[in-house]
Amino acid sequence: MLLATPLRFARGMFPANWHQLSSIFSRSTANTAWRGGIKLVGHKQLSNQRPIRTLSLAGQLVAVPLQHGRSLAEPCVRIGQRVLKGEVIGRGGTAIVWAHASTSGTVVAIDACHPADGDQPLPAVHIAADGQERWAPPRFPPHPLTVPALAEFALQMGLVGLGGAGFPTGIKLAGTAHPLDMLLINGAECEPFLTCDDRLMRERAADIVAAAALLAKVYGITQVRIGIEPNKPQAMTALQQALVSTDRRIEVHALPLRYPAGGQPLLVKSLTGRTLAPGRLPAEVGVLVLNVATVYALGRALLHGEPLVSRIVTLSGAVTSPGNIEAPIGLSISTLLAAAQPHGTGDIQVGGPMMGRVLANSAAVVSKTTSGLLARSESLFPPRAATRPCIRCNRCVDVCPMALRPLQLLSACEQENRALLQQEKLTACIECGACSQVCPSSLPLRDSFRHAKRTIWLGVRP
Ligand code: SF4
Ligand code: SF4
Repeated sequence: MLLATPLRFARGMFPANWHQLSSIFSRSTANTAWRGGIKLVGHKQLSNQRPIRTLSLAGQLVAVPLQHGRSLAEPCVRIGQRVLKGEVIGRGGTAIVWAHASTSGTVVAIDACHPADGDQPLPAVHIAADGQERWAPPRFPPHPLTVPALAEFALQMGLVGLGGAGFPTGIKLAGTAHPLDMLLINGAECEPFLTCDDRLMRERAADIVAAAALLAKVYGITQVRIGIEPNKPQAMTALQQALVSTDRRIEVHALPLRYPAGGQPLLVKSLTGRTLAPGRLPAEVGVLVLNVATVYALGRALLHGEPLVSRIVTLSGAVTSPGNIEAPIGLSISTLLAAAQPHGTGDIQVGGPMMGRVLANSAAVVSKTTSGLLARSESLFPPRAATRPCIRCNRCVDVCPMALRPLQLLSACEQENRALLQQEKLTACIECGACSQVCPSSLPLRDSFRHAKRTIWLGVRP
């Protein structure tokens, strides 16, 4: 059954020649269906009704992290130095993601900061904003642009994956020794509440299409497919309208409206019919996968000479003023929350309710992977019931999109049995949380798998 529906062909309703038509038809016979997943209440309308806003930074402090995962940039500014927006403030050698001032102002400290969605404090450059938002001169990539030069440029422009994990984009772009024939753009945004990608696609579709076309040209890729859940009709329309400006073959596809449709192996399956085996890279099946916000940021860097200094953050849940804000990296979470006006005294969720986490530090700042801040309330986030013994209902197995056996995995985690964890394919778990969501016994399935990956598999001890 074809689940990812091609909505149109590039430059018109019909392909220009029979070769294109036959290739589309042959794809439609591929098995693009995946089993499992769950239907969730989206709560998208809470925050997707208003255009993306910006905030005045006059009088604000921003703390720009110098570290992303294992990549640690060396600060290259001193306390008291005036900096322009986009100016390099941290740099490094091979595989290091550079850091940039997210506003103009004065460096007041080189110290630690707490990223909203991280466990550990990170080294950071603290800047007192002057409120003028004066940009540094743009910096463009070399011409002609090769894949290695593109990868290096992405690192130096501070690009990381904006869809979740924050993997350095330059490393992803460089690690493509396999021949690629497709660029897949993930616009699924399947997490409830989050609408940052939806608003980005609605409002900046032309920039996304231009960036996708350029990437396809650099890689010699013939097909670009943008996957979107069909609960974003305005985003689909905006992208379709933007496609008239490109001669590249770019298609917008409707994904199944089923969480976690944006999970990488599921997106690849839906858009290509190809199976991404656990632990394998998308390049091994001929595709490059990027989140739509990452593609947009790449476009700003390649076409406008702007490094990554901000991201769209959804403010939703129990708030008086929901919406999306383009937040400078390093802005304090309390400033963003003040703009949203949370009511009630519930916790703040960072990211979506399925894969996000509760804000642990009220002094935290926006990082490049902070997709949303959700004010929790009992009605929107009902408390989980107390944990009870497993009743062997098999629901967790039915919903697992990776065809795992969560109950058996949980048992292997509790025993800390590496052989059993390998047998039950722990590393194939994409940590989507669908199993935890449906478990009538409220067993901490996903959290146990996440913990086991770090402690038992990778040997990381808290
Ligand atoms: S968290 Fe892991 S085990 Fe649970 S449903 Fe998702 S992929 Fe399957
Ligand atoms: S869903 Fe929960 S109760 Fe049902 S089999 Fe899985 S772990 Fe057991």
